[in-house]
Amino acid sequence: MEKVVIIGTGCAGLTAALYTARANLTPLVLTGTMPGGLLTTTSIVENFPGFPEGIDGYELMTRLQKQAERFGARVQFGTVESVALSQPPFTLTVDGETLQTQTVIIASGAGHRHLGLSSEDLLEKKGVTYCATCDGALPLFRNQPLVVVGGGDSACEEATYLTRFASVVYLVHRRDSLRASKIMAERTLTHAKIKPIWDSVVTEILDVKQDKVTGVRLKNVKTNKETALDCAGVFVAIGHVPNTQLFKGVLDMDENGYIIPERGSATNVPGVFVAGDCSDHVYRQAVTAAGMGCAAAIDAERYLAGLNQ
Ligand code: NAP
Repeated sequence: MEKVVIIGTGCAGLTAALYTARANLTPLVLTGTMPGGLLTTTSIVENFPGFPEGIDGYELMTRLQKQAERFGARVQFGTVESVALSQPPFTLTVDGETLQTQTVIIASGAGHRHLGLSSEDLLEKKGVTYCATCDGALPLFRNQPLVVVGGGDSACEEATYLTRFASVVYLVHRRDSLRASKIMAERTLTHAKIKPIWDSVVTEILDVKQDKVTGVRLKNVKTNKETALDCAGVFVAIGHVPNTQLFKGVLDMDENGYIIPERGSATNVPGVFVAGDCSDHVYRQAVTAAGMGCAAAIDAERYLAGLNQ
């Protein structure tokens, strides 16, 4: 019987691991399919406190994992396939094996939102991608026109990063102003290689017949005019979808699938706590996820202490 199982190894999960490990609860931490979470796909993180020069996202997560392991956290590569959370002890099936635990901290994060086009699905990894840091340096994108879709901080970050490789980066946004923070928006819009295309949506990614990206079809949402734009890659950066499908029907969620805690990090099921992007559609920062992970760890520790009284 585990005392604490943590689902997810992003900032929230690993911070919860650090705190529960230091409370001598020897947490079992399950990585899911993306050890380190989405931050590992970011280049430089400039807004995590304590790193005035910024820190590489992968390095930050590696250090955080080492810090949690130093105090006894056990990080295991594994994906949770199903959960039985109706009452404690809770049962989790992880890669075919079942395990039981007194508490669960859900820090399963969020995945990339897709445009929802069939051409997008068919051309994924053939020029359509969701991560500039992972794929931007590939030979097929070098000295080519590239398209980034979105108007938030992620889209700005992706577009700026891609200027290292692309001949030009078209930033396609459905409105005529960016949602991104001022500093990111200004950096993006003043970059000589970045050309914004306002009020426009991608209606099709070309060319499924050739089995590679050759361009996009765009529609101006104000004029309804359709145009085609040549490009060798499409980088989709239109936000995220919480990884909470496993908990549907058991834990309280909003209409978009974000888990709604009842009090602090406690969910509607006593003994199940939540932290990070799977329950936060407002702040979604590395440092807020870390803070929520800390809170969930303290809540789990107090819950366990209460059981033993
Ligand atoms: P976001 O802020 O939610 O922005 C998503 C963007 O995609 C918005 O501009 C949105 O348009 C657009 N969009 C959404 N659905 C769309 C669709 N179906 N078709 C076309 N466009 C669509 O997401 P994000 O940029 O990933 O940022 C998430 C959070 O992480 C934010 O809190 C952000 O500050 C943070 N972040 C921070 C950094 C940093 O500080 N270095 C870097 C990356 C992310 P509308 O604007 O019209 O809604």
